[in-house]
Amino acid sequence: MWRWVRSAGALVGLLSLSWTAAAAEPLLAGFAEVDITPALKGKPVYIAGYGMNRKATGVHDPIMARTVVLSAGGERIALVSVDLIGLQYPAVKEIRSRLSDFRYVMVSSTHNHEGPDVIGIWGRGPFHRGVDEGYVDLVVEKIAAAVKQAASVLEPVSAAYGTAEDETLVHDSRLPIVKDGVLRVVRLNKAGAATPAMLLVQWNCHPEALGSRNRLLTADFPHATVAALQKRYGCDVLYLTGAVGGLLAPPRGGVVKDAAGNELKEGDYEYARVYGEQVAALATQAIDAAEPLALSPFTISARTIAVPVENPLYRLARAMGVVKRPATIWTGDFQQFGDPMTLETKSLPSAVESEVAYLRLGELHVACIPGEIYPELVYGKYQAPVDPAADYPDAPLEPSVAGLMPGKKWLLLGLANDEIGYIIPKRQWDKAAPYAYGRETSQYGEINSCGASVAPIVMTALKLRVEEAAPLK
Ligand SMILES: [Zn+2]
Repeated sequence: MWRWVRSAGALVGLLSLSWTAAAAEPLLAGFAEVDITPALKGKPVYIAGYGMNRKATGVHDPIMARTVVLSAGGERIALVSVDLIGLQYPAVKEIRSRLSDFRYVMVSSTHNHEGPDVIGIWGRGPFHRGVDEGYVDLVVEKIAAAVKQAASVLEPVSAAYGTAEDETLVHDSRLPIVKDGVLRVVRLNKAGAATPAMLLVQWNCHPEALGSRNRLLTADFPHATVAALQKRYGCDVLYLTGAVGGLLAPPRGGVVKDAAGNELKEGDYEYARVYGEQVAALATQAIDAAEPLALSPFTISARTIAVPVENPLYRLARAMGVVKRPATIWTGDFQQFGDPMTLETKSLPSAVESEVAYLRLGELHVACIPGEIYPELVYGKYQAPVDPAADYPDAPLEPSVAGLMPGKKWLLLGLANDEIGYIIPKRQWDKAAPYAYGRETSQYGEINSCGASVAPIVMTALKLRVEEAAPLK
């Protein structure tokens, strides 16, 4: 059941990728989208997120994959967003193997909690894998085809970047209360056009407006956000999920209301629609504030990391074949991969392969983080003063995304190329008694993380990638 794929793709994954495309070439962009809604006939589709054994009974709106391909200086990169809970790194490598003439392909999941299981832990019971392998294979093929399609319709564009902020549009359920209420937009206009042809919208909220009882497949609120922006601007829209850890979710307390002023709540399609349109309205503010942006040349720094899997539930899920990912023996160094895990070595500390990347696209800085990063790590707003009851109160503070980005115009892509779970600041890791904030029990979070060492590893890896691409000032 432990399988290490020694394919060309795996070997490529061990290499560091870094280069800069030639400057002063015109920027080209193309968009494509493809419906990846699974068929509901014949076998059950287990909906990912919340509890197990939630079988889909119908489709409310399609599960989509969308991509923007950028081209400059003879180099092409693809940014892909999928309405899934978290496409796993092995599947992303499969997509890349079909797009070997692209310099870089980034596949980010929106973290949709109302789409099909692509990880495995939402099957009919704890020992049943909820993934339809044929579906994942189809998604791989469809995404690769969509990227090729986008690359076939490239047109000259000019770019602009803008932000707008509204913290009331996200709810944070874990102390300390730190949100990322900044919506970031890259607007692409065809040469000479006043209205956008494509929008890249990055927002920071769990797509879980429909809640745990919904049984219809849907892209959740991002469906409404994309639809509202498409309608307003007549353009294509790529919705990207940023920081959702900690746990950033749709708002409560009367923020989302119907036309009559009545509060709408989780689990209601009207709530998802109205909230999605509120996010679109915030995007409009960001678009209105956008300023010209140079998006080339491209400098890409991407490298695999070994992520130690300390979480006993994750280890069990892999051992039972519920989660299928190659694993290696943890070496103690995230930049070194050990031998493949075997039945004989199954009790040793293990690691899975993932990736952290930094893209410098002209003036735009893009952090690619393979999971659910806590907003504390985005802004360096850690619990202060540190609570001595936490498990590692003396752990060094990790560098922050905002602190590492060499400029002010940046995007944060969460669940980029992978979903390794929660990325929790080590000082706030709080699994063992006594508990921080004087609590009787642990806060919710650690159960969804590979372990306390993930945040130091991911943030150190991002620092190394930025340094490799462009020395920090
Ligand atoms: Zn989540």
